[in-house]
Amino acid sequence: MSAQRFSDTSPLATARRIVVKVGSALLVDQDTGRLNRPWLETLVADLLRLRERQQQVILVSSGAIALGRRQLKLAKGPLRLEESQAAAAVGQIRLAHAYKELLEAKGVTVAQVLLTLEDSEQRRRYLNARATLEALLELGALPVINENDTVATAEIRYGDNDRLAARVAQMASADCLLLLSDVDGLYTADPNTNPGAQFIDRVMHITPEIEAMAGRTVSDVGSGGMTTKIMAAKIAVAAGCHMCISAGHHEHPVRRIEEGARATWFVPTATPVAARKQWIAGTLRPAGALCIDEGALKALHSGKSLLPAGIVETRGKFERGDTVSVLAPDGTEVARGIVAYSDADAARIMGRKSSEIEALLGFRGRAEMIHRDDLVIMRGPAARVAGAAEVVR
Ligand code: GLU
Repeated sequence: MSAQRFSDTSPLATARRIVVKVGSALLVDQDTGRLNRPWLETLVADLLRLRERQQQVILVSSGAIALGRRQLKLAKGPLRLEESQAAAAVGQIRLAHAYKELLEAKGVTVAQVLLTLEDSEQRRRYLNARATLEALLELGALPVINENDTVATAEIRYGDNDRLAARVAQMASADCLLLLSDVDGLYTADPNTNPGAQFIDRVMHITPEIEAMAGRTVSDVGSGGMTTKIMAAKIAVAAGCHMCISAGHHEHPVRRIEEGARATWFVPTATPVAARKQWIAGTLRPAGALCIDEGALKALHSGKSLLPAGIVETRGKFERGDTVSVLAPDGTEVARGIVAYSDADAARIMGRKSSEIEALLGFRGRAEMIHRDDLVIMRGPAARVAGAAEVVR
């Protein structure tokens, strides 16, 4: 396939929002333990090129532990958890500094976001992290994300930035995720030990065979092997996001993918919005319900968000971030969505104008009870089957 044709059809060329993950093995020179700055400059140039094409970019960067361990003169080999956390504390500041220097020299504001597993698993935090990323992108900043290694204890750690990056892609409804690492993609067997191993350039379904191919190759510096990349791919494609694994050690690693460098692409079956809405619609047991008036029903059918003003009653117990049913005046379930307020707060602001929220609750919450991006209109028999009585008990 010629370079030109590839770049015309590459998900990378058409994506609206791209998450790029770079592994420690690329960022940090394995011999000296120093930041690989000349390479990093070419990566930054690639990211700026995407932004110039009006694509939004989020960078997930590893490297904190690898950088910090050199500074702290920690011996080679596996670190104890508290040692890697100490190394991360030292390394992260250096990493952030390097990104700030390189990007601000080109007039781009950098934002550092440190996340833990809980931020993507707990609904409230998930919503907050999502809103923050959205605000940063809207304001034109380039978010640089890493795991908050210094506070993430063993049980609540990702431990690898492959899955973290996939969660970020899901959270941000990105349509493309690039994992740049020291492997160029997926093979039918380990190419280091098996000369007959064949390269796979496109994965349409992540079957058990594909998972078996991942094997257990773990690179020296980073902690993510092919296994974590396949786990990341599952998260990404389920969220409607294309994911690409490619080697990143050459200069201009992103541009190279567009120019046809070897890569494995995992292809989703839906768009991010459709995937998100499918997930909402498929919630087995909505936590509660909001009963709405005729005016709100009309607004929903014309594609608008659900505002507190149109709500006449709340049913069940729910937290901000839960999926709830929306019930029409005749009791049928007309929609489902992710609610921005708990049942108690919803009850206090229902029937009121969004401008009154701050005075009623004491904080400035969202104007919408359910934002239209988080709302699915239920049509046909499904709506009748999932009627009020069955949804909320
Ligand atoms: N968060 C770790 C770091 O910045 C890297 C995890 C990984 O290698 O995937 O050092």
